[in-house]
Amino acid sequence: MTTGTPDASQEMAHETTAAAARIGPFADPAWSTPHGLPPFEDIVPAHYLPAFEAALASHRAEIDAIAADTAPATFANTVAALERAGHDLDRVASVFFNLSGSHTNPELQAVERTITPRLARHGSAIYLDAALWARISAVDPEAEQLGPEERRVLDRYRTRFRRSGADLAPEAKDRMAEIAARMAELGTSFSQNLLADESSFALPLETEDDLAGLPPFLRAAAAAAARERASAHGHVITLSRSLIEPFLVFSTRRDLREKAYDAWTRRGESGGATDNRGLIAEIVALRAERARLLGYDSFAHFKLSDTMAGSPDRAMDLLRNVWTPAHHQAATERDRLQALVQAEGHNFDLAKHDWRHYAEKLRRAEHDLDEGEIKPYLPLDGVIAAAFDTAERLFGLRFEELPDVPRYHPDVRAWAVRNADGSEVGLFLGDYFARATKRSGAWMSAFRSQERLNGDIKPIIVNVMNFAKAPDGEATLLSFDDARTLFHEFGHALHGLLSDVTYPLLAGTAVAGDFVELPSQLYEHWLEQPEVLRKHARHYRTGEPMPEDLLKRLLAARTFNQGFATIEYTASAIVDMTLHLSSAGEDGLDVAAFEADALKRIAMPAEIAMRHRTPHFAHIFSGDGYAAGYYSYLWSEVLDADAFDAFREAGDIFHPETAARLRKYVYGAGNLRDPSEAYTAFRGRLPSIDPLLRQRGLAA
Ligand SMILES: [Zn+2]
Repeated sequence: MTTGTPDASQEMAHETTAAAARIGPFADPAWSTPHGLPPFEDIVPAHYLPAFEAALASHRAEIDAIAADTAPATFANTVAALERAGHDLDRVASVFFNLSGSHTNPELQAVERTITPRLARHGSAIYLDAALWARISAVDPEAEQLGPEERRVLDRYRTRFRRSGADLAPEAKDRMAEIAARMAELGTSFSQNLLADESSFALPLETEDDLAGLPPFLRAAAAAAARERASAHGHVITLSRSLIEPFLVFSTRRDLREKAYDAWTRRGESGGATDNRGLIAEIVALRAERARLLGYDSFAHFKLSDTMAGSPDRAMDLLRNVWTPAHHQAATERDRLQALVQAEGHNFDLAKHDWRHYAEKLRRAEHDLDEGEIKPYLPLDGVIAAAFDTAERLFGLRFEELPDVPRYHPDVRAWAVRNADGSEVGLFLGDYFARATKRSGAWMSAFRSQERLNGDIKPIIVNVMNFAKAPDGEATLLSFDDARTLFHEFGHALHGLLSDVTYPLLAGTAVAGDFVELPSQLYEHWLEQPEVLRKHARHYRTGEPMPEDLLKRLLAARTFNQGFATIEYTASAIVDMTLHLSSAGEDGLDVAAFEADALKRIAMPAEIAMRHRTPHFAHIFSGDGYAAGYYSYLWSEVLDADAFDAFREAGDIFHPETAARLRKYVYGAGNLRDPSEAYTAFRGRLPSIDPLLRQRGLAA
């Protein structure tokens, strides 16, 4: 300090205090809350931007010190140092982005629009830093005799730097940074537009006639949605999947089904300020440009080169192998539904907004199965207990609910997770109900990831769902699909909770995009086991187990309507891949025309829509995660169908040795191994597609 007059240092101290006050709890190096949870009640929106700014500056300083180190580059002073850096930034980003997904407001949305391009520029500056890249390249794993985990971390860093443009010429690097910043803006706008379209629509049901066909649970959910939105109407249908799907199933008002369906499938395509089509054209063009700069034929080629599938051709082969039998199956399903329409005395052609309604009628006729009959046996608490019990029987985990921990919304629940020997695994949060401040869908995320580099850090994992909440004092009842979603996301949660690695880069779900759905989809299998349902599917009032005959009918109907389900999913996956194989977009991609043409070329059945139409396909446009990667659910399903067979072959769905291998090589292993290697270590071989086709009822 050269200007050290007493007045100046007092001034400095004052400024430091003021800066700390501006960032609130983010000024504390460690939170003294239970389990180190973020002190949500003390964080206000105004803290985020200054906290991000302080964290970005300190991370940049850490990076500069690593790059400027004059000692020869080693794993410790370069790679491990990078892994240790950025703690404050991780902390503020994890709180902020969790809340901007699950409980946002206009202030957070404004911060999000400001900060996402700055974070992208910050990331680019690191990955395009020539001095840093030179040091990472100079680390010699042989000379240092690095262990397997260290080699894997080094390898992943090198891959990431190359894929971010570290080897490019300076002008190309500048362009990569521009693209990354613009992509961040576009992804944020895409998500915010979608949430605006979703939260602004509500179909009012004003008369008894408007409610025709709706069972009591759906009337109650529609009334709760009206109250939640302070609607002037007694009942409304929102675009939340857990409300609109049952409405399309049960409403006997064809005109209202059409109206609701139309709004649902036109999200992002309103023609107004929230229309996403212009953003999509720009996103697709920028992705293609980035891939070309890196020397790839298309974004899909770039993306798939770092996955288990390895190339767009292999992914497309799988999609086509499933498409053909599913197309056949869907045509048969359609004919049966059309016959039902005729049998009711109507003469209209089955339309997209009719499919779910008539499929439910057919399911009732063929399997004597009624959604309303199943739900009372699937109260939310019972399904949570089933998911926990399955984790106990497979992995010895215990869950203890914690009533008094900080939470960001009163509906959020928290559990301490322990191993059988009492040792701590981590913390699990469940945020189950739909609300207008939450984006649609269901997901798993982390407030803190597992690692051992900075101490023995235990994970804090959250599952976010959009179930329609029952009125106060009543049990929330799930559909079987909702229960499956809960098991799916809980499988992801276990991938985060059981993570057992040293380096943050490899923790939990940080695996190849087409491997990450294995732990989640595999977990769904246990929900479908009679042994699990007999124990946990109990009537929410009487506690009686699901009648054996209902259970049999439920399981027998498992492959019912799978032609439809496979077509709506696979169509989305094929359109995603086709978009990202093209270089279209440079002179203005016409999103609607492109989608229509891609669907025409695969002979999309007229009565089925894509599961996610392009203008609201958040998986592939709110970020890069699933772009040219929606196929990964099916790729992972090849793995999960085959993996569950390992338990069947062992003759015990909780077979201890098989479960131990599963924990070691899949749930606990993060990205310690290449995905094919990890799978082979668990199963002894790579999988075939046959169990998948059997699972979907599509085997020849
Ligand atoms: Zn998933």
